[in-house]
Amino acid sequence: MATLYIVGTPIGNLEDISLRALRILGEVDFILCEDTRVTGKLLSHYNIKTPTISYHEHSSENKVERIIEMLAAGKNLALVSDAGTPGISDPGGKLIQAILEKLDGAVGIESVPGPSAVTASLSISGMPTDKFIFMGFPPHKKGRQTFIHKIMESEWPVVAYESKHRIIKFLEELKKAAKENKEINKKGELEAKPIDLTSVVVCRELSKMHETVYRGEIERIIEKIKASANDQKGEFVVIVGK
Ligand code: SAM
Repeated sequence: MATLYIVGTPIGNLEDISLRALRILGEVDFILCEDTRVTGKLLSHYNIKTPTISYHEHSSENKVERIIEMLAAGKNLALVSDAGTPGISDPGGKLIQAILEKLDGAVGIESVPGPSAVTASLSISGMPTDKFIFMGFPPHKKGRQTFIHKIMESEWPVVAYESKHRIIKFLEELKKAAKENKEINKKGELEAKPIDLTSVVVCRELSKMHETVYRGEIERIIEKIKASANDQKGEFVVIVGK
C-alpha cells in the first residue's frame, strides 16, 4: 500500500528534525513541498536527493488529482510545509481530505511528528497547558473582532500566530479589548468588566539565533517590542494566559 507521510520539519534550527523524518524524506518517491526552495535548503543540508513537487494552499484541483494518481499508482510521498507541522496553519488538511474521499483504505496516511510553534511556545510558557485553545492567525479584516472577543472570553490559555507586520497592532488590539471588556451580569445587563492581561507570553524566533521570550503584562511587552526595531522582526507566537 502506498503511503503519504505527513512530516514535521524544523521551525528554525535545522537540527530539530527526527531521524525518522530524515529517513522517510530520503526514501519516498517524491516530497510535496509548500515551497520547493525553502525545503531545498533543508534537503541539501542533509544531502537528501529526493525529487520535490510543489503543493501549497493555492494548488489547483488538477494538482490534487495528480497527487492522488501517484498514490494510486503505488508511489510513496511525503508532505512538508515551510516550517513545523503540515496542517497546522499550513497546507495539508484539504489534501488529506481529498485522498480520504478518493482512496480511503487504499492509501496509508502516517504522521512523522516533529516541531510546531504551538507546542514549542506552550512548552516554555510556564502556563498550565493541560487545556488550551489554538486559534492560528487572526483574520486581517472580517471576523477580527470576533477572534479577539473569543480570546477574551476563553477559560483556557489561547495561542495565536502573528507576523512581524501585525504583531504590535494585534497586541494593541488585545490590550484595548481587555480594557473595554464587558460581561452580562446576573440582572442580564451588559456591565464593564476590564480584564488584567498580566499573564501574556510572546515568543519570537523560537529555536533561532535571536529567540526572545517576553512575559508578563501586555503593556510592558508592547513597550519592549516597540523599543527596538530588531524586536519587531521575525516570527511570533502570542499566548494569552488566564
Ligand atoms: N506549521 C507551522 C507550525 O507547525 O508551527 C506554522 C506555520 S504558520 C504559516 C507560520 C507561523 O507560525 C508564523 O507566522 C509564526 O506565527 C509561527 N512560527 C513559526 N515558526 C516560528 C518560530 N520559529 N518562532 C515563533 N513563531 C513561529
